[in-house]
Amino acid sequence: MLPIRPLRALLAVAFLIVLLVGIDASATALASTRHAQWLTGTLLTAGLIALHGAFAPVLLAWLTNAQPLDDQLRTATTELRAHVGALGTTMQVQFFIVDRQTPSALSVGVGPTSTVFVSRGLMAMDAPTVRFALAHELAHLQAGHPILLSAFFAALYATKTLMELPPIAILLALLGYLAVLRQAELQADRGAARWLGTSAAKQALHALAAALGETRPPARWITLLSTHPSFAQRCSALNMERKKNP
Ligand SMILES: [Zn+2]
Repeated sequence: MLPIRPLRALLAVAFLIVLLVGIDASATALASTRHAQWLTGTLLTAGLIALHGAFAPVLLAWLTNAQPLDDQLRTATTELRAHVGALGTTMQVQFFIVDRQTPSALSVGVGPTSTVFVSRGLMAMDAPTVRFALAHELAHLQAGHPILLSAFFAALYATKTLMELPPIAILLALLGYLAVLRQAELQADRGAARWLGTSAAKQALHALAAALGETRPPARWITLLSTHPSFAQRCSALNMERKKNP
């Protein structure tokens, strides 16, 4: 649930490249033969995934100075959990609030470490929008996106090293990875729409787009480098879903 900004799109790609180069450099420093380097790199990536599952919530809470639930968030999450629980979904999720005025939310962890971070700016929005944003994050966690997407990254890394891909293929793989991330966003929107209704989901997406200043769809290249689809794309994806499953 992040707004698309050209800077953020470039940062996402830069972060992935730095991560790949960092794993490569560590594997080369730690092992001498190609086979051992591949194994070391893959083990390092697997370790990062395990760390992601276990420590990402703690690390993020520390980095963002997040606070546990306050009364407003407690009421919103209790309502939503009751609603989602009534639809047959039970999840152990911790919620944290981040002192940030831009509306945003983020989910990390897996199983018992599942955690949702919500900004104060998001909590200041109207109740249906808050409910949608929380439902979207719960849908990410229910689908296991935080851990699955990290595992997918590890698989990409292993393939890259095993097949000794040239840099252009690695860049294409990274663009593919970002496309998978965007699909995960659309899946989380569909999950939230199933719980709350398509109209409510679309209204919330419009409200978020307006609050985040996304008055028109961003340029195509920005979308291709983004971790999130534009709000316009997310709304039309929900429209198509409704046509398929009225
Ligand atoms: Zn999301």
